[in-house]
Amino acid sequence: MVWKSKYKRQEKYYYKNRGDGKRNDYYKQWRVKNRERYNSYQLNYHKQYNKKQKEKFILEHKEEIERKKELKKIISKNKTKLRQKRYVNRKRGAIGSHTLEEWENLKKKYNNCCAKCGMQEPFTNQWYQFLTEDHITPVSKGGTNFIKNIQPLCHKCNCIKQDKT
Ligand SMILES: [Zn+2]
Repeated sequence: MVWKSKYKRQEKYYYKNRGDGKRNDYYKQWRVKNRERYNSYQLNYHKQYNKKQKEKFILEHKEEIERKKELKKIISKNKTKLRQKRYVNRKRGAIGSHTLEEWENLKKKYNNCCAKCGMQEPFTNQWYQFLTEDHITPVSKGGTNFIKNIQPLCHKCNCIKQDKT
């Protein structure tokens, strides 16, 4: 029994003065001297850790993520469809109609030029090269779809005009 307690006391002494303090001091000094290296090491460690966590998350929630992606696609598709539908309905809502021939004749009458800026078709400086049908009094203000209410405009002028008469 005596030797056991003696041994324990020795053990305690050993752990107390193992030189950990000195080692810690050395480590601290090294850290101060090589601050950049230490910081970059830490940053790298965190980056890699985050990357791993992300990959883990993606692996674990693969189905959910794909489902969400598909949902997003469907929603965006429907949105563009709705917009197109609204546009067509707005045009259809007007009274009257005109034929393609009438439109061609009208273009000829204007010498294939924009009624506003006078540029001739095709337009090389615009993304849409051909004349567009513009309602002189807009459909939203009770304008009709008859050829009397139509004038040829380039896309640029049509965009600027929009709902004005
Ligand atoms: Zn124009």
